[in-house]
Amino acid sequence: FAPPDGGPLPIVRQTAVERIDHRAADHVGISTSKGHLRVKAVIVTVATNVLANERIAFFPPLPEKIDAASRLPLGLANKLFMKVGRPDALPLDSHLLGSYRERRTGAYQIRPLGNPVVEGYYAGDLAHDLEHGGPKEAFQFGLTELKRALGSDIGRQLSLICFSAWGSDPHIGGSYSYASPGASDLRRTLATPHDNRIFFAGEACSTGRYSTAHGAYDTGVMAAQELVKTIA
Ligand SMILES: Cc1cc2nc3c(=O)[nH]c(=O)nc-3n(C[C@H](O)[C@H](O)[C@H](O)COP(=O)(O)OP(=O)(O)OC[C@H]3O[C@@H](n4cnc5c(N)ncnc54)[C@H](O)[C@@H]3O)c2cc1C
Repeated sequence: FAPPDGGPLPIVRQTAVERIDHRAADHVGISTSKGHLRVKAVIVTVATNVLANERIAFFPPLPEKIDAASRLPLGLANKLFMKVGRPDALPLDSHLLGSYRERRTGAYQIRPLGNPVVEGYYAGDLAHDLEHGGPKEAFQFGLTELKRALGSDIGRQLSLICFSAWGSDPHIGGSYSYASPGASDLRRTLATPHDNRIFFAGEACSTGRYSTAHGAYDTGVMAAQELVKTIA
């Protein structure tokens, strides 16, 4: 919602958009978990899995967008954060791979920027299985790999802080987009505004910087600039 006086945007958190009704020529109706809005135009920035699962209903439907989103699905990566009890037990700001032979392994940042934590990064099937098993199972997996690399004493220094679960978050549904074979041009299809009133942004809309935070940012700025032109 852009205020007419050009002041800062009011941001409402914990509010899910459920439906975008663009039947009327003079406004777009947005139904949310906290009520309804009438706006001139909207920028949709949800992840492709959210669009593909039709968690937001467009009325009339936008099958071209749903198809594009379905063919630009999200892969899965998850992170584990462990607290280090005695920081000097581990090398400062270093990196290690859990295994050079196994496909199912993690990458570890040890005491990044001097913080007393170890960050584990897991991708693909392993990220999926660890998410399914829950934080304790992920912690045991990380601990086993770190003990193998650094010696079993290290186990006494580490405790679980948290483990992400991006795949099962209903508002995300994965980590970052990849193009199915032959679908990379659909990033452009997804990014094209509908009727100059429904704009799309987010990492999957970026043709060159997809899967990244800066790709998400660029496409958001571009969509906002396009929107401003149409309502000026
Ligand atoms: C483990 C991991 C590591 C990563 N590492 C890097 C990295 O090193 N560098 C990098 O550049 N990128 C990295 N990324 C990718 C980066 O985080 C994403 O590309 C970026 O966050 C995508 O931003 P987005 O705005 O497109 O989508 P999102 O971040 O998914 O934002 C969409 C927002 O829409 C909200 N939403 C969903 N449904 C609704 C609804 N119905 N109503 C209202 N709001 C809704 C969601 O809650 C969410 O806040 C990483 C991602 C992961 C998971």
